[in-house]
Amino acid sequence: MGAHKETTGDPMGDGVNRAVPAPAGSGERDEDRVARRDEAVRAAVEQGLVGPGAPLVCLLDVAGIRASAAALRAAFDAVTAPGTPVLHAFAVKAAPLVPVLRLLREAGIGAEVASAGELALARAAGVAPARTVLDSPAKTRAELREALALGIAVNADNPQELERLDGLVRSAVTRSPVGIRVNPQVGGGSIEALSTATPTSKFGVALRDEGARAWLVQAYADRPWLTRLHTHSGSQGVPLSLMARGVAETYTLAEEINARIGRRQIDTLDIGGGLPVNFGSDVTTPTYAQYARLLAEVVPGLFDGRYGLVTEFGRSLLAKHGTVLTRVEYAKRAGGRPIAVTHAGVQIAARTVYAPASWPLRIAAYDAKGRPKPGPGVVQDVAGPACFAGDLLAEGRSLPLLEAGDHAAVLDTGAYCFAHHYAYNSLARPGVHGFAPDGGGVRFAVVREPQTLPEIVAESGGAHASSLTAL
Ligand SMILES: *Cc1c(COP(=O)(O)O)cnc(C)c1O
Repeated sequence: MGAHKETTGDPMGDGVNRAVPAPAGSGERDEDRVARRDEAVRAAVEQGLVGPGAPLVCLLDVAGIRASAAALRAAFDAVTAPGTPVLHAFAVKAAPLVPVLRLLREAGIGAEVASAGELALARAAGVAPARTVLDSPAKTRAELREALALGIAVNADNPQELERLDGLVRSAVTRSPVGIRVNPQVGGGSIEALSTATPTSKFGVALRDEGARAWLVQAYADRPWLTRLHTHSGSQGVPLSLMARGVAETYTLAEEINARIGRRQIDTLDIGGGLPVNFGSDVTTPTYAQYARLLAEVVPGLFDGRYGLVTEFGRSLLAKHGTVLTRVEYAKRAGGRPIAVTHAGVQIAARTVYAPASWPLRIAAYDAKGRPKPGPGVVQDVAGPACFAGDLLAEGRSLPLLEAGDHAAVLDTGAYCFAHHYAYNSLARPGVHGFAPDGGGVRFAVVREPQTLPEIVAESGGAHASSLTAL
């Protein structure tokens, strides 16, 4: 994996420092979110959500998620011609939790799914088929058939998938809008594993490959039911300027296809997600408003009302609203370095543990009562419970010295972290609770129960204990 060379003060990747407070309409004040988090940590300790018998819990800030959803909608409303259909579809993979999908649904956000499992979650949350988009590079015939039967939008990844769709569309009537995903090949960002628009990315039709453009024009000309064009050209580590270039290439292609066909056959552009998140501080940057304004500058035709729009943001809607709270079980020293041994490690933050340079996470120190821990910064490691040496969430980090019985909070973990459990050492999936201010206190609601030991046994072949000895 590449090194993490993104700097938090330069979200656009163009050398201009825009680390300024979020303007009106782009959400709430970052300080309010931090204050809610501190309150929630204290309440989680007071109410026993975390304690000696339950040393690890995950928390989601419901007000924060609502504010981000509102900021996303406001950002695009501000640059889009009145009456333009815009569907913001949350990338379910970022936080595959049914109550989160329902919360987002109530906030006007649909779902982008990429597997039968994600589709099942979106349906369990009550997300309407008309507000659901299916993307995946490996859709089976059965998955495609189901999506078309439900009327879910489908983006074909490649020519072979398009052929399958030909057969299905011929054999049954569908309301599903169908498009093709293109890879504009504008280049990658600082994290190779997340760069979707490199020359050899596995996603979509590679637009700059020989013959690809002509093939695409013909594919649309031959199929009047192909009405969408899709790209997802960014993700964490990709500068906004590059994402906008990918969208611009896609827009230009849509214009070219419609001009060749002589009518506005492509009526909707799906511009994907990928807004990066600032993991370096509590400042929300870049904002949806910044990205929407940049798109309006670079691709003005995108917003003039001729195209409906779909977006697929994931990380940026959830990351800053999740906190992993863990008790410090022991505090020890090795080679002169203090080490806080906690219950949060590789099982809740696999990317950080295996690629710490690309995925640094902030840790906040709280005392035994859940109050922010004062004291001078002491260079220490914050370790997880797993039995391998690399299971560290922070190495050589300066924090108030963590002691046994204190709490460590792993910040910005609402996306691609604790909902992506990694079952190393058969560590149990922790419980997840949403929180909201309630009078002077904090109210919690269960999002997901912690995994039980019988469940771990069952998921580990418990029902087949003698299957191998009987062979
Ligand atoms: C992962 C993914 C997204 C969401 O990306 P984020 O970086 O979480 O915003 C959107 N669209 C597609 C096709 C994806 O694969």
